[in-house]
Amino acid sequence: MVSSESIGWVKPFSHLVQAFILTLMALLLPAAPIACVVLSGQTRFMRLYGDTLKRSARSLRALYRADVIARNLERLLGEFLMGRVSENSTVQGECTHCGECCLDRSCVFLTWTGSGLSRCSIHNNWFWKLTSCGTYPIDAQSIATYSCPSFKAIPIRVVCKIEAPVQIR
Ligand code: SF4
Ligand code: SF4
Repeated sequence: MVSSESIGWVKPFSHLVQAFILTLMALLLPAAPIACVVLSGQTRFMRLYGDTLKRSARSLRALYRADVIARNLERLLGEFLMGRVSENSTVQGECTHCGECCLDRSCVFLTWTGSGLSRCSIHNNWFWKLTSCGTYPIDAQSIATYSCPSFKAIPIRVVCKIEAPVQIR
């Protein structure tokens, strides 16, 4: 199977882009609460400036630890350059809203219901649709990254049909 790993430059390039983006985000961290207001349309992020700043810093660290930007860019480049990569598994399960996949519960947009279920405060808005959140979990690797307890990647069994030999009379 051809994979993005076959193209040697994709992985280092993706990590380089990630390093650039994360450095830029770190430098612009004091403006994070303003960005949160713009991305969510909710002014509470600015009212709670100090808290939003702390949570944004945690989000940034979690983005770095989970290699989110590099992994997604690598996958997208692989698909763009070689056509859709054929998956050898299918993802099954039902979300229990534990919040682990929200950057290990560090995402600045993560909130909790009274009964302890995770909720995304920008769910389904324009920015959320641009992120990989809507397609999580996309594969076995993304399940493993956040130790999602509810989804499993089930290997697809390929069955070869063997034609019966043709009788020649
Ligand atoms: S880690 Fe899995 S179960 Fe938990 S919120 Fe994410 S998708 Fe749902
Ligand atoms: S679903 Fe929402 S809370 Fe979770 S990581 Fe994505 S943006 Fe953050």
